[in-house]
Amino acid sequence: MTKLALLGGDPVRTKLFPAHNFIGEAEKQKVMEIMDSGVLSRFLGVWHDDFYGGDEVRGFEREWADSYQAKHGVAVNSCTSGLYAAVGAAGVGPGDEVIVSPYTMVASVTAAVAFNAVPVFADIDPQNFCLSPDSIRARITERTKAIIVVHLFGHPADMDEIMDIARAHNITVIEDCAQAPCATYKGRPVGTLGHMGVFSLNYHKHIHSGEGGIVVTNDDRLADRLCLIRNHAEAVVTGRQVDSLVNMVGFNFRLGEIEAGIGRIQLSKGQGLVDRRRRNLDYFNRNLPSLPGLSISPVAGDVEHSYYAAVLNYDAEEAGLSRDVLIKALHGELPETDMRQGLGPMISGGYVKPIYLYPMFQELTAYGDLGCPFKCPHYKGQLDYGAGLCPETEKAHATIITHEYMQPSLAESDIDDVLAAFAKVADNLDALRSYAAG
Ligand SMILES: *Cc1c(COP(=O)(O)O)cnc(C)c1O
Repeated sequence: MTKLALLGGDPVRTKLFPAHNFIGEAEKQKVMEIMDSGVLSRFLGVWHDDFYGGDEVRGFEREWADSYQAKHGVAVNSCTSGLYAAVGAAGVGPGDEVIVSPYTMVASVTAAVAFNAVPVFADIDPQNFCLSPDSIRARITERTKAIIVVHLFGHPADMDEIMDIARAHNITVIEDCAQAPCATYKGRPVGTLGHMGVFSLNYHKHIHSGEGGIVVTNDDRLADRLCLIRNHAEAVVTGRQVDSLVNMVGFNFRLGEIEAGIGRIQLSKGQGLVDRRRRNLDYFNRNLPSLPGLSISPVAGDVEHSYYAAVLNYDAEEAGLSRDVLIKALHGELPETDMRQGLGPMISGGYVKPIYLYPMFQELTAYGDLGCPFKCPHYKGQLDYGAGLCPETEKAHATIITHEYMQPSLAESDIDDVLAAFAKVADNLDALRSYAAG
């Protein structure tokens, strides 16, 4: 039996895992064409044809909308700005509540705060880590104006049930699809199941243009409002027929031509990259050595996962070993990934802490020092951001393990090294337990 690196032995692998770089010749050529044209952005913040941006932005929007079978695509400079624009387009404002997941990247929550609404956290379904329809039902009040659903890790949320609830209460549903491009729910792409779907083109996502994002919708009025909020609405509404001035407070969320041009090429590679993730993860899962307490988190039968991250459920009690020590042992065996040094091996515990435990919600401080929007007199609800609010989220945070050993840059031989690290840990459990006991 070979000794674990954590206990002084040699690691399974020291050579960095291959870089996850899928920017290629086509992107370079596209960027040079745009550079030669001299038009790096054609947006104008006045009522003019260029209010809608340049050729690359419009091409990117059309191609993305077509591939998602959506009527409209509105390009923005990040998924964060897309979420902000979507919440604004939905007409959310002071006194309103927006139901959100506490288990997400924080922008899916701050989007509500950005329009002075109060986020109300519903719990997740531990099967898919997305908002639980039952928990949403329990959190609805007459103030609920929108729900922001996150397809976390790439697993689609239970959208049919969520849309039934939303229709019954006349609530706008925004899908945060940052982690779920090419994921499908009952054969339909995520992003068009709710009223608006928002995607990310940030460097760390499945496909990217450095920074970028896009909102899709089938609703003409919402698309129009998104375009206004993206580009200085307050300055252009006088020249236009705008049916409501609510939230026509424009930002500059415009995407540049270079990023849009890269986004078009990346879009064409997206399905292939996601398929590669699926194949890699299938290989990982089929060959994962057995380890007490460790199991693969199941995927619902009627969805296609896009694997931004993969989840392993872990029962430390059954294993007789804490999650921290297990991960420390695996980290000892595995190197980092090229171009991502400093981030550690691509396996970790818990994902993010439940968002209601962040200082903003514990201190009730967002805008100004008067506690707005939480203590704003327009808000008539009862705030609850206490520990214990969403027990399934807190349990997932304390127990799950996430990993990215399905990245498209990995060959099966790379994944074999990761599997060997698990096998080595499984062989050395007794030694690890003694180490943990100190
Ligand atoms: C990455 C991410 C975002 C933010 O995306 P940006 O494009 O970086 O603004 C929002 N929501 C989720 C779930 C994410 O993973």
